[in-house]
Amino acid sequence: MTKSEAPYARERSIAIRAVLRASQLTSSVFDKLISASDSLTKSDKSPVTVGDFGAQAVVNSILATHFPDDPIVGEEDSSDLKTEEGKSIKEQVCRLAREALKGAATNCPGLSGQGVQKQEEEDLTEEKLLAAIDRGNHEGGAIGRMWALDPIDGTKGFLRGGQYAVCLAFIVDGVVQVGVMGCPNLPISPADPKPSGDKERDAQVDKSKLGTVYVAVRGQGAFQRTLHDETETRISMRSLSASKLSQASFCESVESGHSSHGTNARIAELLGIKNKSVRMDSQAKYASIARGDGDIYLRLPVGDGSYQEKIWDHASGLLLVEEAGGKVTDLRGQALNFGAGRTLRDNKGVVAAHWDVHGQVIEAVSKALMEEGRGSLL
Ligand code: AMP
Ligand code: MG
Repeated sequence: MTKSEAPYARERSIAIRAVLRASQLTSSVFDKLISASDSLTKSDKSPVTVGDFGAQAVVNSILATHFPDDPIVGEEDSSDLKTEEGKSIKEQVCRLAREALKGAATNCPGLSGQGVQKQEEEDLTEEKLLAAIDRGNHEGGAIGRMWALDPIDGTKGFLRGGQYAVCLAFIVDGVVQVGVMGCPNLPISPADPKPSGDKERDAQVDKSKLGTVYVAVRGQGAFQRTLHDETETRISMRSLSASKLSQASFCESVESGHSSHGTNARIAELLGIKNKSVRMDSQAKYASIARGDGDIYLRLPVGDGSYQEKIWDHASGLLLVEEAGGKVTDLRGQALNFGAGRTLRDNKGVVAAHWDVHGQVIEAVSKALMEEGRGSLL
């Protein structure tokens, strides 16, 4: 079978292209624009920037051109841009999206000449771009094709100058089949330093060594390429036998409100892990364990666990880890159900680790939660 005949080859190719365009937009927003007036606060108090809206407009426009019938579950909607307060952001979003979509068809081998270029380059009015953002309003579900998009996962990391990711996944009948993730601030070589949001330390980082894209198709492996070079390199998780589990390194959110640092620390202690956690915003955590920088991603819910994880926060990362040799489940060891709607309402928390040790990690999760008196989450 040639590369172009492999299952979901077209979805893979278009998804890469969409993520590349969106990642270029978010990088340029950060370099040129980011200031307090370039972001809004959503009703759940989380920040959203010109970059989030712009990236969603770009990805959804490209998907609409090539897969006009596919619904999209996207994080953002345009309602805040239609207010007086959102006017200047709206204008910037439209300008940046038009710029990012210029000539979008010409860089995708095999796709020019299908009439798509003309369609993409026709005048992208404000109305059309806002409508593109709102194509992301699908309710999700267990039947048929759909896409899940987080245009900037880890917006807080993005604003800090740390890690963030443009995450796009293709899901069929509730099963993730394609995952593409752009990580503009993740070093190409794991040995190089990564920006963490600490201005003084990040000033030393060589920006030319940053910018990765991860691609996985179910059954076809996981790969890393860069934002500027399409050569793909296969990635895999570090093999980790049960006897070496104590040498593992684990990662978790920077934000203590997104995952319980205390519970994560106790789980690590129960497993004999001495290494300090690596804290990182966004699904870059999945990418980093998938390529073997670390071994375990723990996301234990805070409080009563009433928060429902969103499908766009996990779909592409999950496939990347699974295709790199890992297992991703909720805190009970159950598979994540991407067919339950816009959220993972059937699941609590996320635990990702190599197949060989995942069971042991889940045992430690149960023990830690019981000790905390949160056994009702199990
Ligand atoms: P991270 O960068 O891994 O901390 O994850 C960022 C994502 O956390 C955002 O995209 C939000 O959708 C999500 N999030 C917001 N509130 C919570 C919460 N209480 N628990 C878990 N995740 C959350
Ligand atoms: Mg997110």
